[in-house]
Amino acid sequence: MPTYEYECQKCHERVEAVQKFSDPALTVHEGCGGELKKVFSPVGIAFKGTGFYKTDSRSSGGSSD
Ligand SMILES: [Zn+2]
Repeated sequence: MPTYEYECQKCHERVEAVQKFSDPALTVHEGCGGELKKVFSPVGIAFKGTGFYKTDSRSSGGSSD
């Protein structure tokens, strides 16, 4: 399951949540009641410059050449 990262707009604490694609997005930070906004920098992926590179993702398939 993918890990989503949220940042609280109130206290700016980062929250990680493991959710299914079908799960609704978190909107409230349980810690303080502030609004959560999704952060589009998944753990494990490094952003370099303007482009970004996926790390080795062998999610589906698995056909070997
Ligand atoms: Zn908060």
